[in-house]
Amino acid sequence: MEKLEIITPENPILTQKAAPIEKIDRQLQELIDRMILTMRAANGVGLAAPQIGQSLRMAVIETPPEVDDEGEELEESRQLFVIINPQIVWGSRKKVDGIEGCLSIPGYLGEVNRHQAIRVTGLDRSGKPLDLKLKGWTARIFQHEIDHLDGILYTDKLTAPENYWSEEEYANRLAESEEEGEAAGEMVD
Ligand code: ZN
Repeated sequence: MEKLEIITPENPILTQKAAPIEKIDRQLQELIDRMILTMRAANGVGLAAPQIGQSLRMAVIETPPEVDDEGEELEESRQLFVIINPQIVWGSRKKVDGIEGCLSIPGYLGEVNRHQAIRVTGLDRSGKPLDLKLKGWTARIFQHEIDHLDGILYTDKLTAPENYWSEEEYANRLAESEEEGEAAGEMVD
């Protein structure tokens, strides 16, 4: 199985509203498997179909592993989701700022305000209905991916235009803030 090419914002597919999926067939299963492979190869936590040039309402998401007391990553805590025609049917009033990246905008990070918790409905890869209540980073990843299906990039939603950095600038900024005793998290999808 081969990886898929991840497109960048020069390609208009990335900024278009994607079409609902009407048929869950073998061809779609193969596309899902290739998207999972592509996401993992790129060390991403999510990949939406428009990012590989397919204007379809579908995304794959894999949450990062939890870390135990010794700092070891707990592989079994990773969770893989395939969401078809997802819809955010509820968002918490509470919103939180967080740092995001995107496989379609390599080398950059930015701050985005998102619902702290959401409820998402849709279908899984076998066509079974999904009804998920999500919070924290997982909720953030889902919001980022579902935005992709409407042609929206995280850079359209920055908390302020200046809250957008190259990875190098961000690393320097993080080193400075750690000296001040602050902590920050980030994700790339
Ligand atoms: Zn993205």
